[in-house]
Amino acid sequence: MKTGIFGGTFNPPHEGHAEAARAVMRALSLDRIIFVPTAQPPHKALPRFSATEEQRLCMTRLMAESVEGASVSDIEILRGGVNYTADTLSEFKKLYPEDELYLLMGTDMLLSFGAWKRPADICALASLAVFRREENDLEKIKAAAKETEKAYGGRVCVIENDPIVFSSTKARGGDRQMLSPAVEKYVSDHCLYVDTDALCESVKGRLSEKRYAHTLGVASLSCELARIYGEEENRAFCAAVLHDCAKEMPLSEQLSICEKYGVKQDYDEDNLKELIHADTAAALAKAEYNMCDDVCRAIKYHTTGNDEMTLLDKIIYVADACEENRKWDKAPALREQAKRDLDGAVVFLLDETVKRLEKNGKKPYYRTRTALCAAKDTERKKKMADEPVSIVKTAVKAADAKKASDITVLKVAAQTTLADYFVIMTGMTGVHLRALSEEIEKKLKEEGVTPHHIEGVTSSWILMDYGGAVINIFLQDAREMYALERLWGDAETVDINTFLSEDEEK
Ligand code: ATP
Repeated sequence: MKTGIFGGTFNPPHEGHAEAARAVMRALSLDRIIFVPTAQPPHKALPRFSATEEQRLCMTRLMAESVEGASVSDIEILRGGVNYTADTLSEFKKLYPEDELYLLMGTDMLLSFGAWKRPADICALASLAVFRREENDLEKIKAAAKETEKAYGGRVCVIENDPIVFSSTKARGGDRQMLSPAVEKYVSDHCLYVDTDALCESVKGRLSEKRYAHTLGVASLSCELARIYGEEENRAFCAAVLHDCAKEMPLSEQLSICEKYGVKQDYDEDNLKELIHADTAAALAKAEYNMCDDVCRAIKYHTTGNDEMTLLDKIIYVADACEENRKWDKAPALREQAKRDLDGAVVFLLDETVKRLEKNGKKPYYRTRTALCAAKDTERKKKMADEPVSIVKTAVKAADAKKASDITVLKVAAQTTLADYFVIMTGMTGVHLRALSEEIEKKLKEEGVTPHHIEGVTSSWILMDYGGAVINIFLQDAREMYALERLWGDAETVDINTFLSEDEEK
């Protein structure tokens, strides 16, 4: 099999790479080409605001889809650090001992080949397949090919392709014409290669000194929260820098921008002045700064929240309220809470906003109210899933309402790692057993908790595994036979009346 190995930084991969690969494939009748994104290039340092290794790997995969017979290897990225081509080729030789290897490279690489580590080893392991990158570089390659063969042995195949004169440097500089649609979307979705200095300068020109300082404060806190919660910093930074970019525009200008970009808004007069800047900023972020949808929506919802907040929405929403420059007395505590518990901080902030507006005789915008309900719901579900005792409580109440008898709760956390609680109950018939299990499942589902699995639905013992709580529903005979209470005799018995009486007290 003839295998081409095409290494590069691919930061980002572009049509020049893809077309060169296709040309070599055709010219040398290769069976396959393997793109190998490098971990850290030996000859050049990665530029600032560059894509991560993982992102370059993803983009290379997207590019490779357009080259028939191509695949992508993460061999160098997994090895990490500085990789040398001679070592990579040795690995491929071990992987594919029968294959004839070809190392693909453009003119620029051949011209610097003498500076590579162990060039003679490379030439012993693979033939070089050198393709053109520039107009008029053919003679240069041919001469360099001869010299290389003379100096290091082996074979250099010169590919007389039509070059696509383009580079990743150009793409990073904002020229996206040679990126495939899939790679271009990836670049945009991940806010890669944004010229953040130019972005900041532009926003600075739109804002007073004070608001610009606030903007930088939001950017700094957003990036910190992004690092904590696993959002991409680039995206958090861009959304934060742009979130208030329309705030100081006259209302009439904002309205005409919204109209121009077809932004639908339904604010009443009370809210219009306060809130429309978020819609305007989102429209500008899309139209003038070319930001992706996720960033634009975080900007759009940064003052009101919404009922399906993404991680980025939450980060921008909270950071806006409590960044370092905010004078609000609750800002420092909220900042700390956001770093520990972002969802809790969102609930707190939405709640505070609704209360403050109502206290001042204003009507909170409907989206803030629905956001608050949704955020509280998420919180409650999370708590339920985290606390097995809440699962037990709901299950016991559901079972009691459906007339289960002899409900027993054992706290088994000290005896086993299987669960924290066992709930045991008896039903009268098989039908009753199933009715009990369905009711418990339904009630817990309403709380956002679903079972890991349920066993024995048609037998005399239904077992519902909810992780920290395992619920056992028996027919009387089976309960006596399996005698779980006896088996877990050392476990503490929990008084279920405390669960059942809670509702009565209310
Ligand atoms: P940068 O601009 O960041 O230096 P690049 O565009 O040169 O990047 P690399 O990933 O460094 O791309 O290059 C990997 C390989 O692809 C090299 O062998 C290079 O010669 C080749 N190559 C890069 N661009 C082209 C192109 N437009 N046409 C043909 N080959 C190319």
